[in-house]
Amino acid sequence: MKITEHIQAAQGKTLFSIEIIPPPKGTGIEDLYKNIDPLMEFKPPFIDVTTSREEYVYLEKGNGLVERKITRMRPGTLGICASIQYKYNVDTVPHVLCGGFTKEETEYLLVDCLYLGIDNVMALRGDAMKGENHYKATSGGHKYAGDLVAHIADIGHGKFLTDEERTSDHNKFCIGVAGYPEKHIEAPSMKYDLQRLKEKVDAGADYVVTQMFFDNQKYFQFVEEARAIGITVPIIPGIKPLATKSHLSMLPKTFKIDLPEELIKAVSSAKDNAAVRQVGIEWTVSQCKELLEFGVPVLHFYSMGKSENIQKIAKELF
Ligand code: FAD
Repeated sequence: MKITEHIQAAQGKTLFSIEIIPPPKGTGIEDLYKNIDPLMEFKPPFIDVTTSREEYVYLEKGNGLVERKITRMRPGTLGICASIQYKYNVDTVPHVLCGGFTKEETEYLLVDCLYLGIDNVMALRGDAMKGENHYKATSGGHKYAGDLVAHIADIGHGKFLTDEERTSDHNKFCIGVAGYPEKHIEAPSMKYDLQRLKEKVDAGADYVVTQMFFDNQKYFQFVEEARAIGITVPIIPGIKPLATKSHLSMLPKTFKIDLPEELIKAVSSAKDNAAVRQVGIEWTVSQCKELLEFGVPVLHFYSMGKSENIQKIAKELF
């Protein structure tokens, strides 16, 4: 079932969902299941699975020589989606990236999605490779998420890279895209970034999931500005409970977001990480209560492989 159909079927009731990351290659899937199991009582209609970009590794060859190889540390997004879908009977949303994939590879991945009954996908550009300052489009790949959205929409309509025409009016894919309540780092202004978001929706995106934020005002303002320029699709807030002191510097650096002073103070004065986790839980519960009142379609939690705090938060809300 498509995400948009889940939202419609909920008739205004806010849904619970999570995003997970594949385990490092060589580890089993059991730990992932152990983290999903406790969250199933909140009946997520869908679970997102991230995709990681390829990266360079440097192998010592002796005699001071080093060989550079390219690898993907956490492959297996589609396999994980298929196994979760069939184990838990929930829909899964593989993240599909421009970076690191040619258009043909993307097309084959989407064909696999169709065979597996996966009809929701999240279309993303991806970041620069580790160690590179700027994002560079992969040779033969898409440059921006908007181009990827158009390609996915074409495939959903039966038009492949080698075809001239779409063969169906019905798009088999429901396409999600990313939105940034605090602006994407590379965008010269919020207005510019919102216009790019509008282009993704016009290209065929069916819903937006936001970058994490800790100040609801940023989300409310983002939704208002998006609606004002004609973005009418659901805008799902992405939620991350803060859990360690290191998050104070790591989250702003990685995700280019601000943390509210009140939250910084509470985390700074917490005596250890157990106390920080409690601060994170309390902050997220009150943040989500306000979002529920606002009538958000879904509360989408970035689990990053940890379910304990999300379970505590969800128990207060659902
Ligand atoms: P785009 O929409 O392409 O935008 C990138 C930048 O280019 C923006 O500054 C935008 O304003 C600008 N832009 C867009 N279109 C154009 C255009 N036509 N011309 C000029 N400028 C343009 N990363 C991963 O590697 N794996 C994941 O699984 C993953 N999941 C994510 C899930 C969510 C909900 C979010 C919010 C992010 C996720 N990311 C993931 C991170 C994402 O890949 C990065 O934030 C990336 O830098 C931008 O991706 P995008 O799809 O928003 O790009």
